Amino acid sequence: MSQDAPAPLPWPDSLCHRCAAPPRYVKTATSTFLLCPVRADKYPRQPVLRCPEFRPAGAPAP
Ligand code: SF4
Repeated sequence: MSQDAPAPLPWPDSLCHRCAAPPRYVKTATSTFLLCPVRADKYPRQPVLRCPEFRPAGAPAP
């Protein structure tokens, strides 16, 4: 299991890669999953193209 972003990134269009949540990457022998610490569905179906909880990583807190 790993928390670092894998390379190459799976689902390159996913908003999660640019999110301040921050997401965690869970890698198994056969798959990579993205664990969202914010949403109730902890492993959102990828790629996430819209998300009401998205906040850009690196942006100042509101
Ligand atoms: S809050 Fe939304 S965009 Fe951010 S990591 Fe979770 S599912 Fe992805």
